[in-house]
Amino acid sequence: PAVTPRVAPPTAPPSGFDVEAVRRDFPQLHREVNGRPLVWLDNGATTLKPRQVAEAVAEHYSTGTSNVHRGAHSLARQATQVYEEGREEAAKLLGTQDTDEIVFVRGTTEAVNLVAQTWGRANLGVGDEILVSAAEHHSNLVPWQQIAAERRARVRPIPLLPDGQLDQDAYQDLLGSRTRLVALTHASNVLGTVPPVAEMTALAHRYGARVLVDGAQAVSHFPVDVTALDADFYAFSGHKVFGPTGIGVLYGKRELLEAMPPWQGGGNMIDSVSFEETTYAPIPHRLEAGTGHIAGVAGLRAALRYLAGLDRQAATAYEEQLTAYAMGALATVPGLYLIGSAPGRIGALTFVLAGTDPIALAGALDRQGIAVRAGHHCAQPALASFGLQSAARASLALYNTAQEVDTLVAALQDIQEQAQ
Ligand code: PLP
Repeated sequence: PAVTPRVAPPTAPPSGFDVEAVRRDFPQLHREVNGRPLVWLDNGATTLKPRQVAEAVAEHYSTGTSNVHRGAHSLARQATQVYEEGREEAAKLLGTQDTDEIVFVRGTTEAVNLVAQTWGRANLGVGDEILVSAAEHHSNLVPWQQIAAERRARVRPIPLLPDGQLDQDAYQDLLGSRTRLVALTHASNVLGTVPPVAEMTALAHRYGARVLVDGAQAVSHFPVDVTALDADFYAFSGHKVFGPTGIGVLYGKRELLEAMPPWQGGGNMIDSVSFEETTYAPIPHRLEAGTGHIAGVAGLRAALRYLAGLDRQAATAYEEQLTAYAMGALATVPGLYLIGSAPGRIGALTFVLAGTDPIALAGALDRQGIAVRAGHHCAQPALASFGLQSAARASLALYNTAQEVDTLVAALQDIQEQAQ
């Protein structure tokens, strides 16, 4: 099925969203690096944090410290309330009413590993197939390779088209009675591609396969609704949605989580323990062994409340316009080749500049205060699909501006001229 374009052709700088008001909430946007005002275009790696997040984490450590779910004292109750409100915010962000479907993990990587190690070990057998898109971050590929090797199952790639979209004909051909799971990104960190996840999920379900969606790059850019997608599992990382590192979320449909064997064992995840028999707590706690990242959840709660407080439609429209503007501006740099031109993309803009090594390019930009990432972006198969091993990436967030894009483009033009 065709993807509906979400990005207009490159035209005027974006408007209609009060980006300056948002920028005031992000202290790091107002610092200098190498004597220049910072231009943070490394949002794909991690997003900056509004001051509300730093305050929430500091509050937990300075006056709100307590463990949760244990102890009959006031601070334990307060910490538990913050923790469970964090779960409610994550449920709201993803569009589920059922907070038991929200499992706290360290991040997207841990979420995928959890599913591979529990659901995968219980459900994959010899000759079963896992379809993984060629756009995936290594964290939604390597865990599947590992469990496939253990279960003697097979990982098969869903190839990419030259514009960075997933090849839907190939996908339909790959689906079959052996397909058990489809691992799909909701937005590629390299190509920016936003695959038609709902359609692909519906197709997978016809074959009885489950679908895990990697939302690491999606949740900060556009509203997500796991119910509308009918995703079986959905993962994201707090630090890529304006929250702290070390905290993330695995969403799973209730019946799947309930049927999954626990992963790690220990405190918090049990019902009763004896040497004769140990029984487990209900979900989500059954999948959350040990003390969780309580300060991280406090920060995540603040981040998700911050995001929910913005006009998300306006923010998404603004980012779409900014992405279109940036694509148009980058196209004016001689010798610049942008990977992935699929419509409906997020602003993960990965490129190479003729005659310039991407790492050296990032270094030259850094000297001008511009932060971009260079390398393989933990998506070697995606880059290999374009015959590349390394590239530079400028990745946009809702607080970036057309002026920052102009600064990047001017710097690239300088670098390109000097390389001649
Ligand atoms: N998936 C995608 C698309 C990503 O961009 C990233 C991080 O760059 C990850 C997964 C892994 O996230 P984390 O390192 O927070 O687990």
